[in-house]
Amino acid sequence: MIDTSMSSALSLTLLCRDTNSHARVTQITTPHGVMDTPSFMPVGTQGTVKTLTPRDLKEAGAEMILSNAYHLYIRPGVEVIRSLGGLHKFMGWDGPILTDSGGFQVFSLAKLRTITDEGATFSSHFDGKEHFLTPESVVKIQEDLGSDIAMVFDECSAYPADASVLRRAMERTLLWSARAKRAHKKENQALFGIVQGGCDFALRKESLARTVEIGFPGYALGGLSVGEPKEHMNEVLQAITPLVPENAPRYLMGIGTPLDFLEAVSAGIDMFDCVTPTRYGRNGTAFTHQGMLVVRNAIYTEAKGPVDVKCDCYTCQNFDRGYIRHLLNANEILGHHLLSYHNVYFFISLMKQIRSAIQKGEFLSFRKQFEIEYNAGSR
Ligand SMILES: [Zn+2]
Repeated sequence: MIDTSMSSALSLTLLCRDTNSHARVTQITTPHGVMDTPSFMPVGTQGTVKTLTPRDLKEAGAEMILSNAYHLYIRPGVEVIRSLGGLHKFMGWDGPILTDSGGFQVFSLAKLRTITDEGATFSSHFDGKEHFLTPESVVKIQEDLGSDIAMVFDECSAYPADASVLRRAMERTLLWSARAKRAHKKENQALFGIVQGGCDFALRKESLARTVEIGFPGYALGGLSVGEPKEHMNEVLQAITPLVPENAPRYLMGIGTPLDFLEAVSAGIDMFDCVTPTRYGRNGTAFTHQGMLVVRNAIYTEAKGPVDVKCDCYTCQNFDRGYIRHLLNANEILGHHLLSYHNVYFFISLMKQIRSAIQKGEFLSFRKQFEIEYNAGSR
């Protein structure tokens, strides 16, 4: 067991390492509690994990949740959240919170005006108002929100991107990371660095080495799953993740599906977040042990039995597929809630099963078995 205090705000205890892959089990301690990894963090972009209460999230086994500095800065504004006691109090969630810096949103959602080494000027996607964010102001926003883990402001490149564009985004992210670290003063908050470089191995390695040189208590891989072929993403994960210092949490941003998790865990990733469980849930699709199930489909009109026979969540214990299909068809909020709940529960349960398999030395056989059943049932 390796216990390394990375900063006063965060420490990682390595509990177990898989002998056949880079998979590992750790415990990450934050000011608002402990998270076991590999872990899935439900996403509450607007200060809420859509349709789920903090009580639902606790019951589903969530340990850390994610929110987004860009969205909260735009609406309701940091001052409102501060005046209501900070983000934990505001959301009614007393566990750990990670805030994404909003780099991805500024580059994907907002109408970007100009970007220079100083910062990014953009029009809000909400009301068109012009804003200017710098690495320092994004740190300040997250300090004021009071999250347990904050992320540096980074420049994300689209896919595909020329080598020169990737290099420029990487250099700018490094420059901004160093400035963010200098600006970050909050002792009970850990600031994570973000590794960029697209699918270019040499750039990724350079980005990682130089980010580690700046020195952060945790590292994220950003700019993946932006349209590149899955094989490329997996190659990057397998090549880069094991090079991240082992006493630091490794966070894969914004990904994805059960099969992505298994691949990334085998590369050594500890932390995941994605909107998939709630987004798919609202759209009428369930993640199950037997693959993705489009509950909204007419073939389930009179279907008896749970969404997933192997799931013991509240939704699966109490409702037939046919009833949930009816709710979705009638656009009833309860349908969105029940399926979002099942999907979040399923992702978190999968992480528990992965941790248990690693600890028993059975990760590879667990993965193989899971993939066979999942792929055979996908429809
Ligand atoms: Zn369920």
